[in-house]
Amino acid sequence: MPKLLILGGGYAGLAVAQRLDAISRGRTGWEITLVDQRDFHLLQVRVHEVAANTIPVEKVSIPFNELLDGRKVKFVQAQIQEILPLEKKVLTSAGPLEYDRLVVALGSETRYPPIPGLREHTFPMKDLDDAIRFRKAVIESFKAVTDPSQPPLKAVDERLTFIIGGGGLTGSELAGEMVDFCSDLARRAGLPQNCFRIVLLEAAEHLLPTLDRQYGEYVRGELRSHGVLVATGAMIERVEDGVVYLKGGKIVRGKIICWAGGIQAASVLGRSGFAHLADGRISVDEYLRSKEYPEVYVLGDAASINDKRTGRPVPWTAQYAERQGHYLADNLWDEERSLRTRPYLPFSLGTAISIGRNEALTISGPLKLTGVPGRLAKNISYDNYEWNIRYKPRILKV
Ligand SMILES: Cc1cc2nc3c(=O)[nH]c(=O)nc-3n(C[C@H](O)[C@H](O)[C@H](O)COP(=O)(O)OP(=O)(O)OC[C@H]3O[C@@H](n4cnc5c(N)ncnc54)[C@H](O)[C@@H]3O)c2cc1C
Repeated sequence: MPKLLILGGGYAGLAVAQRLDAISRGRTGWEITLVDQRDFHLLQVRVHEVAANTIPVEKVSIPFNELLDGRKVKFVQAQIQEILPLEKKVLTSAGPLEYDRLVVALGSETRYPPIPGLREHTFPMKDLDDAIRFRKAVIESFKAVTDPSQPPLKAVDERLTFIIGGGGLTGSELAGEMVDFCSDLARRAGLPQNCFRIVLLEAAEHLLPTLDRQYGEYVRGELRSHGVLVATGAMIERVEDGVVYLKGGKIVRGKIICWAGGIQAASVLGRSGFAHLADGRISVDEYLRSKEYPEVYVLGDAASINDKRTGRPVPWTAQYAERQGHYLADNLWDEERSLRTRPYLPFSLGTAISIGRNEALTISGPLKLTGVPGRLAKNISYDNYEWNIRYKPRILKV
């Protein structure tokens, strides 16, 4: 049996494995192996909600053994160390794995531009561990100021000032959730509601720079009305322990600094003999194949492809990653049945940006929902995804 090896069980990789198994009703001729360093699928789009204590850890991690039919898809928990495309082999912590076709869906990691002190003095916000560490540090900050041996709180106190660098989706959503989290902590500690500050710094001229300016401006207005201090055009030049230096001479002091200002492809790709872009991503053709090795597909955050209709890069979001996975599974199954395969056409149902625990801006085509209805729509999309990965493959197989 030919071997289909899928690296990464995130939105893209899981989608390929589940859908190929489901639409073929378990009859695909591929021997499918999925490899991931974790033994669970991470709902990464909700990681910042764990950081802000909105939801517990269990809400974002689903064990692979609940999602994969072990008879058809073999799961291997291992760290990918290197891909050797010339030898059609992948080196992993569990030993080498060979393939006939390879799906690289290893996602992305935090990117640190060359800003002195940035890596050393900030918390990233990408993985579950990042979120847990951040949440703990925020709780500790509130505990520390209520310790009677500590000096009393000042009106503006850097011990309860939390700085977020990067006003994209992650940073903006985290800022909103942090207001609710800190509000809870202040109430429990018997502190006034105005004892903390959340500062959001964005280098571009508006928040959410990958979306239309109007949406960034809307989210900025809403965050401000929740008490977040938003600074756009704020270029971070240097970071020290508890201090951010901005271009132009401004200084912001805060106990905890989070860096949510950029991502790059998983670093293993840079060590794996593929020609890659400056951000580590691999350029793919219209069938999501590596341009150098046509038996290698690259999906999700690891891939770079432009939308032909807009000329703009396909966004690195879970929505696109999942759809790319489904697209590839459909093509693989069509190919097996000698049907014509089709090129990839990016498609999105819309975008939803939460503003705290109870509000969101949800845009889908001409539909725009704000406030509580916007948040309900976002929550429905979360539930829908979970339903799709838990139950839909089983239903398709019947
Ligand atoms: C806080 C936050 C909020 C977000 N919010 C949204 C949102 O609201 N909407 C949206 O559409 N997108 C959102 N995104 C983006 C979205 O999460 C990503 O675009 C999406 O996860 C990419 O999917 P993927 O399959 O390419 O990679 P991932 O989902 O990251 O999966 C990659 C997998 O590869 C595994 N892996 C990586 N390296 C190795 C290795 N060396 N060895 C073994 N396994 C490895 C990982 O464990 C992981 O399971 C958000 C991201 C973050 C961080």
